[in-house]
Amino acid sequence: MTSLSTRQQHDTLMTPNYAPAQIVPVRGEGVKVWDQNDRLFWDLTSGIAVTALGHAHPALVETLTEQAKKLWHVSGWFTSEPLVKLAETLTELTFAERVFFCNSGAEANEAALKLARRYASDKVGSNKHRILSTVNAFHGRTLFTVTVGGTEKYKQGFGPLPEGITHLPFNDIAALEAAFDENVCAFIVEPIQGEGGVRSATPEYLAAARKLCTQYDALFILDEVQSGVGRTGTLYNYMQKGITPDILTSAKGLGGGFPIAAMLTTEKLAQTLALGTHGTTYGGNPLACAVGKKVLDIISAPVFLSQVKERSEQLKEQLHTIGKELNCFSEIRGEGLLIGAELKGSLQEQALQLMRRGEEHNILFLMAGPNVLRFAPALIISETELDQALVCLKSTLEAAIAAA
Ligand SMILES: *Cc1c(COP(=O)(O)O)cnc(C)c1O
Repeated sequence: MTSLSTRQQHDTLMTPNYAPAQIVPVRGEGVKVWDQNDRLFWDLTSGIAVTALGHAHPALVETLTEQAKKLWHVSGWFTSEPLVKLAETLTELTFAERVFFCNSGAEANEAALKLARRYASDKVGSNKHRILSTVNAFHGRTLFTVTVGGTEKYKQGFGPLPEGITHLPFNDIAALEAAFDENVCAFIVEPIQGEGGVRSATPEYLAAARKLCTQYDALFILDEVQSGVGRTGTLYNYMQKGITPDILTSAKGLGGGFPIAAMLTTEKLAQTLALGTHGTTYGGNPLACAVGKKVLDIISAPVFLSQVKERSEQLKEQLHTIGKELNCFSEIRGEGLLIGAELKGSLQEQALQLMRRGEEHNILFLMAGPNVLRFAPALIISETELDQALVCLKSTLEAAIAAA
């Protein structure tokens, strides 16, 4: 009874911008979660690629508990040991020399875009303000990031919107070349469009973008909010694409479920954000930074990352097998443990319905648009756990096909 009232209360208490599942999760362990009725679900969502080490990872619980006894918050008027340690780790493990901490992917992208505008304005003048982005891109829901994002309906009714932003077809080198001029201050792209359907940018596209950015003195902003922190089998996806961005944004997996985000950049570009130019109260919060450091220590280990690649192969292979048997997928794509399965036949455009049906079969997964199932399990998922979860996926699909 409690369970029903809690779920119903949600709808009377909350702004209606979400439509959460009917089940109410109450605890989790690794890739398993239990609802109020103590029913078990395999979690192939990780809270949208956030709980990278699964639920209640013992090392993270310990780190958070220890930090909770020491220091919770100090603001930007003070530094802290966890902040410095996490910044040190991020700069050691990536191209970056400087870090800005904030609390969400949108905020990290907001900082990146503001830095790019300000850098160009300081160096050249306010004419150099154009931002190039891609169709179907997702960069967050603040007014600036949603405008830079490539989904029209997310912007509707929120105008006037920030100006000077152009959306180009993804992976189209010719369109990018045609759009570039000396007034472009930044190009922003996800190495794998997550919300946009789990589509990888080709290495050729990223290389062309890198070259054009350098040629026109525009900043290459790589949004690794979803693809970062081990998700694709390297700490960040750019590490396997042969390019280095000027700015990289990280969030989702970085705190393993504790809110934190980071904008990474070079020494030179960082100077743009001079004293007083930007800030956020919670950015670099000691609790978040302590957890983030532990997450990176665990995920950056080569053995850990090679296991992500092994599970990726297993997931793709088994999805191919299921797709063949049930004739329900037209394509399996993605990298690491960010995998999309495009629906066909009687399941076409049924991603949302399948998500809901999955709950009946004890499995939770995501969608990426109405025609793509998205799988983003915790990176610690074992071979047998993935096997068991995919048995539930198969019964979900079979039931849906039978009902169609
Ligand atoms: C989720 C996401 C964001 C936005 O992150 P929030 O923490 O929701 O603000 C930005 N970019 C990408 C690629 C994302 O997947």
